[in-house]
Amino acid sequence: MAYSENSVVYPAADLANGGQIFRELTRDGSPYPARLAVFGDPVSHSLSPQMHNAALEAQAHEFQYVRILVTTEELGHALADLAEAGFIGTNLTIPHKQAAFEFVDEITDQSRLMGSINTIAVIGGKLHGHNTDGPGFAAALQETLQLKLHEQRVLILGGGGGAGRAISVQCALEGCPQIFVANRTLEKAEILSEQIEESLGKIITPISLIPEALENALSSVDLVVNATPLGMKESDLSPLPDGLLTREHYVYDTVYSGGKSALIRQAEAVGAKNANGLSMLLQQGAMAYKIWFDESAPLEIMKVALSEATGSKY
Ligand code: NAP
Repeated sequence: MAYSENSVVYPAADLANGGQIFRELTRDGSPYPARLAVFGDPVSHSLSPQMHNAALEAQAHEFQYVRILVTTEELGHALADLAEAGFIGTNLTIPHKQAAFEFVDEITDQSRLMGSINTIAVIGGKLHGHNTDGPGFAAALQETLQLKLHEQRVLILGGGGGAGRAISVQCALEGCPQIFVANRTLEKAEILSEQIEESLGKIITPISLIPEALENALSSVDLVVNATPLGMKESDLSPLPDGLLTREHYVYDTVYSGGKSALIRQAEAVGAKNANGLSMLLQQGAMAYKIWFDESAPLEIMKVALSEATGSKY
């Protein structure tokens, strides 16, 4: 791997006092400062450094993207230190996507509706919050399953969470003809449904994550999206009971653990077309790259980096 820095996890304290450590990083004896990062807790699992460092290298940006372990308590300070430490921006992962709202200066309308931020750009010392998970999902669907999101009748499993909410809002923004949002805690899906109807005038049907409700929804959708974490561990069960998927369904699992999730195995068993979340990771990252540099990301190079990082074919 070209970048040994990919595996290093820096503490948030390194951002303080102008981020001297990041400014002084070198590569092959030449200055190679860190100017992009992912903040999370935990953060060691993130594949964003591999993906973005490959892109930076390919497009001759002479700096790097690092992992920074930022706890909930540290988030405000870490974001406040970002500009002075010379950073162009950062990505946010668990558990910061919602909490970051109170620390940024500007938020896109789309991110506000999605209720979370996964990308921050530093512009003139101000922090601009974006959400590329929703549009990244739509692009991933087109890339992997050749589906136009706006034509799909969709069931989103885990719609009450961060990724599920972003995907649900994206479906509403694109005008999907039918949207079911299933959530273990039904109340969260109901609140989301009310908010989307109020702001976009689009009807979303909230349902419980129980077999009867899922069976009913599945009989009238084309696409099933898993936005629960079920599948991240090999031992995880599918969020869907057996026997509900048919060959006509498409399945998109946002989980990208490397192996096949139980949901993907269910889809394969009935011959339903399916894709895992690696493409969403790629597309949301490419959209963040475009926000930071106003230039297109080198997708093919990023795909190779993701394949290497996961040890599986993209
Ligand atoms: P989150 O905010 O914690 O939301 C988790 C959601 O899953 C909630 O709706 C939660 O329901 C539900 N859930 C959790 N455990 C469950 C269980 N055992 N059974 C049924 N439902 C359960 O998490 P997140 O950040 O949205 O991440 C969710 C998944 O999306 C993760 O697997 C993550 O890897 C994936 N993701 C992928 C990408 C990508 O680029 N591919 C990007 C972002 C996220 P309650 O509301 O009832 O708690």
